[in-house]
Amino acid sequence: VICKVSLAQISDVDRAVAVAKEAFETGEWGRMNARDRGRLIYRLADLMEQHQEELATIEAIDSGAVYTLALKTHVGMSIQTFRYFAGWCDKIQGSTIPINQARPNHNLTFTRREPIGVCGIVIPWNYPLMMLAWKTAACLAAGHTVVLKPAQVTPLTALKFAELTVKAGFPKGVVNIIPGAGSLIGQRISEHPDVRKLGFTGSTPVGKHIMKSCAVSNVKKVSLELGGKSPLLIFNDCNLHKAVRMGMGAVFFNKGENCIAAGRLFVEESIHDLYLNKVVEEVKKMKIGDPLDRSTDHGPQNHRAHLDKMVEYCATGVQEGATLVYGGKQVPRPGFFFEPTVFTDVQDDMFIAREESFGPIMIISKFADGDLDGVLKRANNTEFGLASGVFTQDLSKALYISERLQAGTVFINTYNKTDVAAPFGGFKQSGFGKDLGEEALNEYLRTKTVTIEY
Ligand code: NAP
Ligand code: MG
Repeated sequence: VICKVSLAQISDVDRAVAVAKEAFETGEWGRMNARDRGRLIYRLADLMEQHQEELATIEAIDSGAVYTLALKTHVGMSIQTFRYFAGWCDKIQGSTIPINQARPNHNLTFTRREPIGVCGIVIPWNYPLMMLAWKTAACLAAGHTVVLKPAQVTPLTALKFAELTVKAGFPKGVVNIIPGAGSLIGQRISEHPDVRKLGFTGSTPVGKHIMKSCAVSNVKKVSLELGGKSPLLIFNDCNLHKAVRMGMGAVFFNKGENCIAAGRLFVEESIHDLYLNKVVEEVKKMKIGDPLDRSTDHGPQNHRAHLDKMVEYCATGVQEGATLVYGGKQVPRPGFFFEPTVFTDVQDDMFIAREESFGPIMIISKFADGDLDGVLKRANNTEFGLASGVFTQDLSKALYISERLQAGTVFINTYNKTDVAAPFGGFKQSGFGKDLGEEALNEYLRTKTVTIEY
């Protein structure tokens, strides 16, 4: 037990939405000019930076992320996200549009880009602060007020964040953080008649449910960042050293609790055995341990149920006949540690080839030398479409593949290289609507067309 946190009730959602609505419609926030809103968000980012060690420590303890990664990625990227969107506040503008100019009347048509109202946000536990930041920053920059529910298992950095918004001077009612159960609090937020937009990150089944609630309640605008099973294609003409190092990161980053994790590696047959051996050599060197220890590479899984899921997932892989090359078990020490795991000889119809593990499990399959279209077809044979990657030194091949992969992100000779300025989001059942970059703002704005005859 780290600490105890109040569990919100449905009436807390209703209170939060009511104050958020008031802050949006009649409060200081709604009247604030965009440049001042930007300054406030910059101030918040500065405060987060002043508290970055504290935030990273809380994140490490709460989520099991190793401290060094929590500081650089979980917290570091969150700060960058607020700074990036703070800069957008006074650059949200419409356009002037020529319409039919039949004389004697003259017309002027222009568009206004407006915030929608109270925005609900529901997020998962894998990057607790960063998922909050990706959505909340765009949302505040656009001028909304926010009612956010963190995951039950990781509410702590969200609560610390709430404290910092008060310190930064955000008016009352603008940011509301409500820790509680998804089936109760998340459900109420997605059904609330005064919430006009919902930003969700989480699993595909819950995403579908939320989309339904948003439709039935009041046709809320919704964006969904859902699950993934991202393919990573490794060709025999790649820089092998880099493909090994980055292939490891593609799978084991944040102990595999990474939505864009490479859920499946396809390795060209002539380098398959070499690649596998090198990966296993590296996996054996990974230091498993206390996330607060600065030399740890691999921390514990997020929570007990997730650890249990990993154990079961690997047992299924073995039952299906995949070759378990390394790992596959809970580490015999206190805590929710799971061994970094490597499977090969994985067939396309196996459960572990199709379903997301969301854990530190590398799934390798072979493809015949030179069979570009064959491996592309296999890589696209999934209902997910979040990310993908390819390692080859052949630029033409890489670009050909990047055109054909059905995924919202394609990494070429790199992996996990997300940036606050680059739009991020899935295709197919990995959802729709982007986080990050200019496109994320569109998710939190509506366009009003104004026409004047003079
Ligand atoms: P999840 O089970 O879908 O939960 C996500 C959030 O939804 C949690 O806060 C959860 O509350 C809440 N929730 C559950 N039922 C709800 C309902 N009926 N109505 C409203 N909210 C509800 O996902 P997870 O297990 O936390 O996270 C893992 C999944 O997230 C993976 O599939 C991963 O790929 C995906 N993910 C996607 C991205 C992306 O950008 N595409 C990023 C990160 C993670 P509780 O706290 O009660 O569980
Ligand atoms: Mg869940």
